[in-house]
Amino acid sequence: MSHLIHRHLCQRPPVAVGASGVYVDDSLGRRYLDASGGAAVSSLGHGHPDVLAAMHAQIERAAYAHTGFFTTEAAEELAALLAADAPGDLDHVYLTSGGSEAVEAALKLARQYYVERGEPQRAIFIARRQSYHGSTLGALALGGNTQRRRHFAPLLIDVARVAPCYAWRERAPGQSEDDYTAGLLAELEACIVGAGPQRVIGFCAEPVVGATGGAIPPTPGYFKGVRALCDKHDILFIADEVMCGMGRTGTLHALEQDDVVADLVALGKGLGGGYQPIGAVLARAPLVRQLSEGGGAFEHGHTYGGHPVAAAAALAVQRVLRRDGLVAQAARRGAQLRALLHRAFDAHPHVGDIRGRGLLLGLELVRERASKAPFAPALQLHARIKRQAMARGLMIYPMGGTVDGERGDHILLAPPFIVSEAELGEIVTRLAEALDAALAELD
Ligand code: PMP
Repeated sequence: MSHLIHRHLCQRPPVAVGASGVYVDDSLGRRYLDASGGAAVSSLGHGHPDVLAAMHAQIERAAYAHTGFFTTEAAEELAALLAADAPGDLDHVYLTSGGSEAVEAALKLARQYYVERGEPQRAIFIARRQSYHGSTLGALALGGNTQRRRHFAPLLIDVARVAPCYAWRERAPGQSEDDYTAGLLAELEACIVGAGPQRVIGFCAEPVVGATGGAIPPTPGYFKGVRALCDKHDILFIADEVMCGMGRTGTLHALEQDDVVADLVALGKGLGGGYQPIGAVLARAPLVRQLSEGGGAFEHGHTYGGHPVAAAAALAVQRVLRRDGLVAQAARRGAQLRALLHRAFDAHPHVGDIRGRGLLLGLELVRERASKAPFAPALQLHARIKRQAMARGLMIYPMGGTVDGERGDHILLAPPFIVSEAELGEIVTRLAEALDAALAELD
């Protein structure tokens, strides 16, 4: 028996004993092709010697230094690198130990900014239905994922909600993409005005929706419109790039492709590439200036924030990404994987949509293509596909329909950027087999 509380309490997963490149090995000698980068985490793949060396060097130098007493070269250099490559004046960096912590820190930074500005009445966040921003209570409150919220609803702060940008499923028949986008922006503006702009802190969204949607990109102009509304009503725009940031979509920041700069950006996953638990918030200069003009402190903190080994690992990951041109490689490999997915699944009766950006790609599964009707959530199709994929030595990241059945099962693919073309072919072959085997279980 295992004393560990596993995600699925009565299922002990395979024991990982080794990992290198795009492969993970288990204790029974089975090898898994990592087509999901864990949960869209591994950007460099596993066991990169430069990252391991940087971690070792930092462990020998100083394995831990509390930020209440010290800063470290690793944390300073990481912040400098992130600031140098960030768009606009997003040139301040707050380090955390993961994505949820980054979102929490962004929420509190945003709130403190307005308190320091003399506007303590601002307390409302706006976010989208069908969104996921993390599992701590603040981040969970922001997310609209009904499945993940349902046990904890009474503990969550109220968040105002608008529709996600999900054209494939929600655009009305005959409606143009521009009209659909304009409708979403009108709804957001009505929400801001309804709440009272002087009571709103900000709007938060994922530029490319990951876990709750299966790599849903925005429509053209959507985030430009969001930015304009946030400026017009003087509220903050918080971008959650925990999954889609740090090169995953083929540009360092996902929002670069929408030509938009957010006020706060939450980062995680690909920042440290899985080598250490680390996340970050990028903040625009005026926000941080306001905080330093106030009490001079951000009223927040965690014991392991800015951990030197985590910072050294992330710094090494980010340096390798740049040195080896891996962000452009993610764009190239993403286009190749997308083409392979189209070839394999365009005629598949249960693949409704193939979408995403760069190496963050998703398939949405449907019971029937014409109506886009999803499979019943109780069938747990996504879990069946995952089991079938694991049995074929393939790691993918499938998620299910919500409890209220408002959308379908989907599969997220997010392999490391170093994946080869041959490995992409192998991913698609094994995925097609796993999908058909899972569907056969339903007969
Ligand atoms: N935001 C987004 C968009 C995410 O995908 C995730 C993780 N799936 C988080 C926040 C939370 O990050 P973490 O699991 O590192 O706390």
